[in-house]
Amino acid sequence: MKCRNCGSSLSLELIDLGFSPPSNAYLSPEDLNKVEVWVPLKVLVCQVCWLVQTLDFHGESDVFTENYAYFSSTSTSWVEHARIFVENSVAELGLGADSFVIEVASNDGYLLQHFKDKGIPNLGIEPTRSTAQAAISKGIETIVEFLNPEVASNVIATRGKADLVIGNNVFAHVPDIRGFTDSLALLLSEEGTLVLEFPLLLKLLQENSFDTIYHEHFSYLSLHSCLDVLSRSDLRIWRVEELTTHGGSLRVYASHVTNCRVIEDSVNKLLEVEREFGINSAAAYTNLADAANNLRDKVLDFLIACRRNNLKVAAYGAAAKGNTLLNFAGVKPNLIQMVCDSAPSKQGKYLPGSHIPIVSMDELNEYCPDVVVILPWNLSVEILTLLRANLDVRPKVVRFSPSFREL
Ligand SMILES: [Zn+2]
Repeated sequence: MKCRNCGSSLSLELIDLGFSPPSNAYLSPEDLNKVEVWVPLKVLVCQVCWLVQTLDFHGESDVFTENYAYFSSTSTSWVEHARIFVENSVAELGLGADSFVIEVASNDGYLLQHFKDKGIPNLGIEPTRSTAQAAISKGIETIVEFLNPEVASNVIATRGKADLVIGNNVFAHVPDIRGFTDSLALLLSEEGTLVLEFPLLLKLLQENSFDTIYHEHFSYLSLHSCLDVLSRSDLRIWRVEELTTHGGSLRVYASHVTNCRVIEDSVNKLLEVEREFGINSAAAYTNLADAANNLRDKVLDFLIACRRNNLKVAAYGAAAKGNTLLNFAGVKPNLIQMVCDSAPSKQGKYLPGSHIPIVSMDELNEYCPDVVVILPWNLSVEILTLLRANLDVRPKVVRFSPSFREL
């Protein structure tokens, strides 16, 4: 396989998680009697541009459908994160009624709604029809397409270029990272600012959070590799901010190279931290597989002990992260009987691979669990509060990843 960014041959393996279904392929009751597609989940490292990426596999385009069930607005902390970003960027970039903001992968309008409230013209580009429809019904203009150079050209022809282009948690999710980056550069006005957020590879490697690896997540970016990807589209990063979202993310600010912005200290500081860690050397990529095997053994020991003691075990959060870990460890409903999720679109369905049923908070409460495992560990605080407020019983609450811990 060739690197999706620079075209070099890939030979260094970061981790092989075996086979699993796509993390967002939730099953309806009828689907349980059908063949389920399991595909290889292996991650490789480019030793030229250091972009970390999932292995291509045959039939990829057949596997990823538009039936995407994640609605950003169901996470209150994520909506608040978006609101603060909008407040700050409007003030700093001086955005107003004459400006134009584009968000790529705008989901259900969780972020653009804040620009709309301020009377700032905006446009969403969102490929999944269900979430785009939710945004449109909030009055947020949304194009239902995957961003590519053709879509970008059409937007420019009808609406012009944007002063601010935002891509939150999409950059790592696109298979054609070159075409996507070229499209972002096309959409951006001469003086415009591009803001991208993605999980930071350094955190994944430092914390061994291998459960953030899943098929829909094609790239795992460091600041070093991100600089390389953007520079090939003549974009330059001038500021970075480290965020706690998704277990450790990076927000980068970039502009066209022709735009003479001063590169802030934050960029060189993080580059130095990455260099010290050895992010551009093979040694940085050798520990993750062992850490994953150790965590799997701990999880199975804990769950088997629960079963031997006749404890009722449930999970909270039918997230992609959870599915990677559950399928890697081979967990089935005999070890975790149900998973509760607040999104009505997921309730009544089953997790891909493990086939654990997804239930509402009322059903979880009725079950009176002895143990609840929080799967989206990045939202542990929010979820723990929710459980304490809604359950009549007081179960033991644990998280498995990035390290096993009782909460
Ligand atoms: Zn490369």
